[in-house]
Amino acid sequence: MDKIDIMSMTLSELTEFMTGRSYPRFRAGQIYSWLHQKFVGSFDEMTNIPKNIRDELSAICYISVANIEKKLVSRYDNTVKYLFSFCDSECVEAVVMDYHHGRSMCISTQVGCKMGCTFCATGRGGFVRNLSASEILSQIHAAQRDLKIRISSVVLMGMGEPLDNYDNVVKFLNLATDEKGLNLGARHITLSTCGIVPRIYDLAELHIPVTLSLSLHAPTDETRSRTMPINKKYPIEEVLKACKYYSDTTGRRVTYEYALILGVNDNDRDALQLANLIKGTLCHVNLIPVNPVEGTGYAQSSEKRIKNFQRILADNHVNATVRRTLGSDINASCGQLRGKHGK
Ligand code: SAH
Ligand code: SF4
Repeated sequence: MDKIDIMSMTLSELTEFMTGRSYPRFRAGQIYSWLHQKFVGSFDEMTNIPKNIRDELSAICYISVANIEKKLVSRYDNTVKYLFSFCDSECVEAVVMDYHHGRSMCISTQVGCKMGCTFCATGRGGFVRNLSASEILSQIHAAQRDLKIRISSVVLMGMGEPLDNYDNVVKFLNLATDEKGLNLGARHITLSTCGIVPRIYDLAELHIPVTLSLSLHAPTDETRSRTMPINKKYPIEEVLKACKYYSDTTGRRVTYEYALILGVNDNDRDALQLANLIKGTLCHVNLIPVNPVEGTGYAQSSEKRIKNFQRILADNHVNATVRRTLGSDINASCGQLRGKHGK
């Protein structure tokens, strides 16, 4: 019999589960608190739960734990990169960044990814499996336990495409924002997607006002379809319409990610075309010097090019910042550490 994933249950699901087994409902609240506020990894640590209940639960349920397989700390800026493994030994990466306003964590939603973007280390490695809601959550628990800190904001920008694992990611969002759990504000969670259009509409309807970040990376369908295969299914016009709907429905500013790749998407005309696509909408552009992944043949645009690109956007009233690279000495971009570990 497969064991039950108890940490993926919402409090009301857990309550139903416990009362269904004839335990008093207050036990559900106690167990939920052990799992989601004290981050225990075993039922035996739940000291206010009678032993017979703990024994029965551990026979039929499991608690997801992200085991620290590797940990790298940047010498420059306190960025910490983790390689976590789960019970089937599959690994994902996560990064904790130290900002003035608190600690932000970038977490994974899948082992690998099906989307095949040509510049991305994760995409090049192929897809293995989805993460459960509890496995997504357990990455935050592990970092908080390990570093003895509170994570104040989270970005779903690690390995995987969150909207390709929609149900588990939504469940994760509900658990992470629960005031009886981690109690993260939805506004402090950013979901980054390559643009799976129907799921962007679904997400908007849920009214969990997370920040939506779209990986745009090219101003024309021709270039975007070449680097991001998903564009052949959901071209730029459709995905931008969905983003506008998201921002109209939630009142949240959409972020566009744009990784600058030398000679591919970084000339003046690209900048102008990008500005024309999005000017006048509630948005912000993050310009990122592409992280050159082995085997892609892609190189970073020069600093001068990047500044020029940003200036053209500004001249056309589009806000853009160049994202500073954190933890450059520890390969802080996701997908690269797991790649090395596997070899
Ligand atoms: N699948 C989602 C989220 C994970 S990827 C998405 O694509 O949005 C997180 C971010 O890293 C995305 O914006 C992605 O486009 C970007 N990215 C991937 N490989 C990169 C690279 N080599 N250099 C810079 N950014 C990269
Ligand atoms: Fe998947 Fe995102 Fe990488 Fe594309 S950029 S392959 S969607 S993880």
